[in-house]
Amino acid sequence: MYLKSLHLRDFRNYIDQQVAFDAQKTIVVGNNAQGKSNLLEAVELLATLKSHRTSRDRDLVREEMPQGHIQATVERIYGETELALTLRKQGRRTVSLNRENLRRHLDFLGILNAVQFSSLDLDLVRGAPECRRTWLDRLLVQLEPVYAHILQQYNQVLRQRNALLKKIRNLEAQHPKEQLLVELALWDAQLAANGSRVTRRRARVIERLAPIARSWHGKISGKTEILDIQYQPNVQWLEDDPTQVQQAFLEKIQQRRIPEEQLGTTVVGPHRDEVALNINQTPARSYGSQGQQRTLVLALKLAELQLIEEVIGEPPLLLLDDVLAELDPHRQNQLLEAIQDRFQTLITTTHVGSFDALWSKDSQILWVKTGQ
Ligand code: ATP
Ligand code: MG
Repeated sequence: MYLKSLHLRDFRNYIDQQVAFDAQKTIVVGNNAQGKSNLLEAVELLATLKSHRTSRDRDLVREEMPQGHIQATVERIYGETELALTLRKQGRRTVSLNRENLRRHLDFLGILNAVQFSSLDLDLVRGAPECRRTWLDRLLVQLEPVYAHILQQYNQVLRQRNALLKKIRNLEAQHPKEQLLVELALWDAQLAANGSRVTRRRARVIERLAPIARSWHGKISGKTEILDIQYQPNVQWLEDDPTQVQQAFLEKIQQRRIPEEQLGTTVVGPHRDEVALNINQTPARSYGSQGQQRTLVLALKLAELQLIEEVIGEPPLLLLDDVLAELDPHRQNQLLEAIQDRFQTLITTTHVGSFDALWSKDSQILWVKTGQ
């Protein structure tokens, strides 16, 4: 796939800027706080409808403006598509394909695919389990857009069930709770049905990603370090069969009934799952030096690229925000070798001197200054 052009209007610090991409590699150069990351963020939004920097649309719209727009033309094997996203300070965002508004945002996903790699990604190793779940969910949305809907349904059930559990917890002692427990049983079934869909998909994608990441990791770090990635669901199952997983889910919910009622919150389900990252059987969080943790993240990102390409049949974009400078020359070379000319890549940097390896004669340079 190829991102041909981008048009930003009142997006972050951009007033009205057209960008045409005319090379496989685009180097976005500028001083701090000029709009380099904002440009990459716009592409990330078109690919995932999410930004890794904010979950609030009002942050994305230019100061003092009511709405902002991102528009792009993407070339795929099957043809060209114009994508547009309108973000509002107040009210819902709207999306369109080829100038036709979409009722379901889900239909917007899967046209543009991108893997984002920024210095914040070290949180994948160091951060709380939630960071890894979010990462995995975003990958899944790109591999299988319908997953966005599945996850949304699960979160909805989770919220409602939590509200009910809180109500039960806060019930006065003399008040009968039978009626609420009947209601809870209905939510249990919903949680098991939706939760098992989420958990099974996540476990399956890790199963596919793990060997690819391990192989990249071995290549970059040398053979003495073995990377092992495992999805750790808090509901265990023997066979990857929908009915069996749901059954296991329901049993676990029954077991946790008392603590859930005491805590007033759901403790069983994929919102409590973990992705274990181990190097030589030790959690990477406590094992690695900063450089080793970076190597691990690099291996995960390269694995993501490869997996998306395998699944959708076209190479996704790669967005590298400030990461090259943080890698040593060996790792920089590994990364560049892996990308070669296979993936359209947007790279940000504050100064061009250190990236000689990138100066192939056909890369494009964009100079960014105060949103222009
Ligand atoms: P660095 O090299 O430090 O990473 P950068 O070029 O990547 O810098 P960006 O994060 O792209 O910088 O842009 C930051 C600039 O955008 C800041 O000046 C910030 O004030 C401005 N900015 C962010 N959001 C908005 C907004 N909603 N409206 C106007 N300006 C904004
Ligand atoms: Mg930046």
